[in-house]
Amino acid sequence: MTTTNASLFERAQAVIPGGVNSPVRAFGSVGGIPYFVARAEGPFVYDVEGRRYIDYVQSYGPSILGHAHPAIIGAIQDAAVRGTSYGAPTENEVLIAEEMTSRVAGMDKVRLVSSGTEATMSAIRLARGATGRDKIIKFAGNYHGHSDSLLVAGGSGIAQQGLVGSEGVTAGAVADTVVAPYNVVPEIDESVAVVCVEPIAANMGLVGPAPGFLEGLRDACDAAGALLMFDEVITGFRLCRGGAAEWFGVQPDIWCFGKVIGGGLPMGAFGASHQIMGNLAPLGGVYQAGTLSGNPLATAAGLTAMQHLTVEAYDELAAIAARLADGMQAAFDTAGVAAVVPRIGPLVGLFFGDTAPTDFDSAKAICDNGVYAKFFHGMLDRGITLAPGAYEAIFPSLAHTDAEIDETLVAVAEVAAGL
Ligand SMILES: *Cc1c(COP(=O)(O)O)cnc(C)c1O
Repeated sequence: MTTTNASLFERAQAVIPGGVNSPVRAFGSVGGIPYFVARAEGPFVYDVEGRRYIDYVQSYGPSILGHAHPAIIGAIQDAAVRGTSYGAPTENEVLIAEEMTSRVAGMDKVRLVSSGTEATMSAIRLARGATGRDKIIKFAGNYHGHSDSLLVAGGSGIAQQGLVGSEGVTAGAVADTVVAPYNVVPEIDESVAVVCVEPIAANMGLVGPAPGFLEGLRDACDAAGALLMFDEVITGFRLCRGGAAEWFGVQPDIWCFGKVIGGGLPMGAFGASHQIMGNLAPLGGVYQAGTLSGNPLATAAGLTAMQHLTVEAYDELAAIAARLADGMQAAFDTAGVAAVVPRIGPLVGLFFGDTAPTDFDSAKAICDNGVYAKFFHGMLDRGITLAPGAYEAIFPSLAHTDAEIDETLVAVAEVAAGL
């Protein structure tokens, strides 16, 4: 029997809930059968049927250099033969922490974890421990991973499922979580430990911060003695060398990272000043730990990725993103399709509406209008993979050349004409 996407999906559904290990991958909001990836290289993924796609999922960000980058593969191979996990500290953990803290002004120390979810979850515990306060504020449509207290009004896969939060999360777990609309500075009082924000919201399509929003959060947090946390799991080391704090010139108290920093392997991190990080065990009373934290394969891959992410690389990635975004916008305009292709540096979004949304309500109205699913399948039929959900961003990588972008734009024009 030959292995096909359909046969694998059927077998997968028998033994894995929904056939996938992360909900969006199931194609629930776009319909159809997911492609099962056999291998990937540079800007391409190849499915088990041997079909090649130009890939704009790029693992939702981690493979910023392109898939299977030779330097990253080499670093992983080199690390693997020396052992895959020790439960003792390693030199690469020091090197990657030095690399991260040298890029981010005001972030003196980082703790490595194994996912973005772990980073935000631990950062919140740290913020509560550091302030002695309970409440947290998050913004509707911002996604901070799937820990209980943050799983309300999230973007990304939660939004696609049409769930407000999740079953299985107790009222108690979210009792101290206040949800505010994005791009409006909320009331912040002295019960608030931390305000969590995606400095660029990239899990409800791509929604940038309104002028003054991040600055306003900074001032309001300072006035209330609350901490400000930037969830830079997408923006971190993708936007520019120093991430969103550098890009916008607003410094939070706590940073969370993930995706890019693992170079395609599982890794996250959170960081802050000496003073705040001093609350973390073994220095302080806020406990946080991980058997595989600072894993040698992940640090080898992540460090190699970071070393390739020079100022020139960011300029290059932004130019690739601009060629894609401008070309897509032009194709939609020519076809008379109401669409907005927002771009912030190397980050690209797509909304099938007349105006770019500014918050979750306006994003939802567009993301749920059904047009994206048609576009998605039109592109997939033409050998181009986008995320199977309207709430996700588009991720060009440094491996996407003009040839792939132009091939993509031809497909966009064709699909747009049929919308
Ligand atoms: C992906 C993401 C997370 C969660 O990271 P995982 O590695 O999937 O746990 C958290 N915050 C933001 C902004 C993200 O995009």
